Amino acid sequence: MSLRESAADMRDELVRLRHALHRQPELGLDLPRTQEKVLTALSDLPLEVRLGERLSSVTAVLRGARPGPTVLLRGDMDALPVAERGGEVVSQVDGRMHACGHDLHTTMLAGAAHLLAAGRDRLAGNVIFMFQPGEEGPGGAKIMIDEGVLDAAGERPVAAYALHVISSVLPQGMFVTRGGPMMAAADRLVVTVRGAGGHGSTPHLAKDPIPAACEMVTALQAMVTRGFDVFDPVVVTVGSFHAGTVDNVIPDEARFEATIRSFSATSHALVQERAVALVRGIAAAHGLDVDADYTVNYPVTVNDGAEADFVGGVVREAYGEERFVTAPQPFTGSEDFSFVCDQVPSAFVALGACPADTDPAKAAYNHSAEARFDDAVLPDGAALYAELATRRLGLAAS
Ligand SMILES: [Zn+2]
Repeated sequence: MSLRESAADMRDELVRLRHALHRQPELGLDLPRTQEKVLTALSDLPLEVRLGERLSSVTAVLRGARPGPTVLLRGDMDALPVAERGGEVVSQVDGRMHACGHDLHTTMLAGAAHLLAAGRDRLAGNVIFMFQPGEEGPGGAKIMIDEGVLDAAGERPVAAYALHVISSVLPQGMFVTRGGPMMAAADRLVVTVRGAGGHGSTPHLAKDPIPAACEMVTALQAMVTRGFDVFDPVVVTVGSFHAGTVDNVIPDEARFEATIRSFSATSHALVQERAVALVRGIAAAHGLDVDADYTVNYPVTVNDGAEADFVGGVVREAYGEERFVTAPQPFTGSEDFSFVCDQVPSAFVALGACPADTDPAKAAYNHSAEARFDDAVLPDGAALYAELATRRLGLAAS
């Protein structure tokens, strides 16, 4: 029986686990109930299990019956502070929702552990299962790496894979990846322009921070088009801007926040330097003080070219040609799997999971209160994790 057929037989258990996770979403690094469900799901398997210290992660190692290298499979487990609207299985926790489908990743990874444990006799090497909290922030992958997930089997993995479901854009069941940049680096710029408040009728007696802050917002867009290669793009979005209280009072301060995304290490380094220099320069030109706090959140998720090709080959062979497409460009979302990619040749793979009766072009996107992920993709997702590990280890051993 193929892994895919075995996974199809597990469908009911997978759906049950996913629904249980979906009803009780947890946020950030501390996911005690999720961790408990994962441990229960893995309890009868021959795994070496280690729990996180600074976060509620689960690291499990399966040792194959035959010697060989190590492969890592990652599934993230955290939810979002979103109030779910509609749907058949709905969050029972107010204001929290598995709106990015991480409940499916957790379930698929647990399913893969069952599939791989059942085929342990044929497995030539080790598999690390990385059940990770805090992908949506503040970055659980980095903490798990600090706590030793990459060395959990006693040696570094030769390859790492992560799956991510997408509730729109892709048709259900379509696997997508690419070599090179796959997801953006996402940074945060917080700017506080400090002037001196006064009467709106006498601006020359005050130091008005508002025009300077507005100039910064538009100059950041000019910086993007004038200072960066159009084929190595940068996205700057000012999503928050606050200043003042009424029309006739000049405030002391204006404050704005921007998300800044880039797709190469070069642009990522350059934009940090340029954005901060720009706002400082404009503040100085107006005789104002400014605080520019630039925080690097996640680096660019860069897939290894050979691993991305390998994923494409496995999907085509196990599921059919029509189930795989190479992404023509990276996604503008970001991922802390990037920290794994920085150290291990990896592939991050997207899987279309919108409901079968929905037009992917019109379906609600990940993070929406109306995002829907179809249970139908669970068996194939679990089987793909297992296929990737089995075949990659087989390849290395032969
Ligand atoms: Zn996500």
